Amino acid sequence: MIFDNVTVITMNPRREILTRAAVAVEGARIAAVGKRREVLDRFPSQEPIDTDGMLLMPGLIDTHVHTAQAMIRGCADDLGLLDWLGKRVWVMQGNYTAEDGRASAALCALEMIKSGTTGFIESMLAERYGFDGVAEVAVRSGMRAAIGKIVMDLPSYAKTEGFMHPGMVEDGRTSVENTLAAFDRWNGAGDGRLQVWFGPRTPGGVTLALYDQISRLAGERNMGITMHLSEVREDLEYAASVGYRSPAALAHAHGLLGPRTVLAHCVWTDEQDWRLFAETGTTASHNPASNAKCASGIAPVRGMLAAGVNVALGCDGGPSNNTYDMLRDLRLASYLANLRENDPTVIPAETVLEMATLRGARALGLEAEVGSIEPGKRADFILIDLDKPHMTPAFDPVSTVAYCAHGSDVDTVVIDGRLIMQGRRVLTLDEDEIVSEARRRAPAVAARAGLQLGSRWPVL
Ligand SMILES: [Zn+2]
Repeated sequence: MIFDNVTVITMNPRREILTRAAVAVEGARIAAVGKRREVLDRFPSQEPIDTDGMLLMPGLIDTHVHTAQAMIRGCADDLGLLDWLGKRVWVMQGNYTAEDGRASAALCALEMIKSGTTGFIESMLAERYGFDGVAEVAVRSGMRAAIGKIVMDLPSYAKTEGFMHPGMVEDGRTSVENTLAAFDRWNGAGDGRLQVWFGPRTPGGVTLALYDQISRLAGERNMGITMHLSEVREDLEYAASVGYRSPAALAHAHGLLGPRTVLAHCVWTDEQDWRLFAETGTTASHNPASNAKCASGIAPVRGMLAAGVNVALGCDGGPSNNTYDMLRDLRLASYLANLRENDPTVIPAETVLEMATLRGARALGLEAEVGSIEPGKRADFILIDLDKPHMTPAFDPVSTVAYCAHGSDVDTVVIDGRLIMQGRRVLTLDEDEIVSEARRRAPAVAARAGLQLGSRWPVL
């Protein structure tokens, strides 16, 4: 395939932007990137796809996703965290069947593809959502994914004991065994696009002995680990109560930090924590919309970046965001950093774009394979249609993408050299069927959970 007549944000080491350019794909990889004439002359027998001046850039990588939460979008708006989790989110999720888990993952994948996300990290896939169904959807979607299977042995949340909904509780031995079984069955599936990781619950949900076991098993298999860390202030109190300076110090002491580890949120972290992340190559996944909605705090992104931490971006979930549209969150990541630091220069458009692409690729362990448009890299990219009022004029394409574009402006998605969406039509998943199934299943889950969901205003 040759995409002709594009503007390319390459994200190559020189960060070049090419106008009147073309990108050629051979098999799963990018064969050529350059000015139109050079590329077209190299492949004279290939009929190019004329994009009419679209913008081509690396696919977005969402480093913190709960696929099971797409179908409970909006079930817990405007609530404090404990009510949010204890009265709504866990009650809904604790009533999921494996068929609900599969249907929600399909809805989530569809939304991600339609907003330009090409790779993601699922952070906490519970047993009851059905690993095989979700993995099958991930492979079928054509996306690149790391699925973190939940591991836990305590039903607490931070220092609140016995808090988890009974439908969500798993025991340590089974949750580890099932993670390893899923790894053996699915790791490397979909031509290597699927990875299986450990997704332990945050400190308070896992005993220290089980963390030690997870670190050892992950190290032996070079498996990734993803975990929520220091999302809310209570997490600091929990770490102190078990004898650690911070949740990051706890994670470090139990072998959880390293280049194959992605920690979501990291809101309540300090310089000593950042040094640990930087020294170990740990990724921090910044989730600006979720943190803002739940009033968790604004993560210290400037400090982490200055300390040399790999900071990537995540949308989190349907009840905390409430969408999986990364482009909305690029803008929020920058704007919130300005507000936190009282300085509009700290996280410019270029930095958020790096967080959503190159830094996300590093989080997945794929920095040599994806995250930029360079010959030899895997062809994971998106095309954005700039011909819209809200993106006119586009003086600087980087600013236009970071601050103006919506997910619905993404026209085409290519992953591993394969067309996944063209002209906004997803080619790997059946959109009508997935949306109607989610519409059917969501109220049934709410009914089983005994929840009345709907408008707080009178509906006539
Ligand atoms: Zn989360």
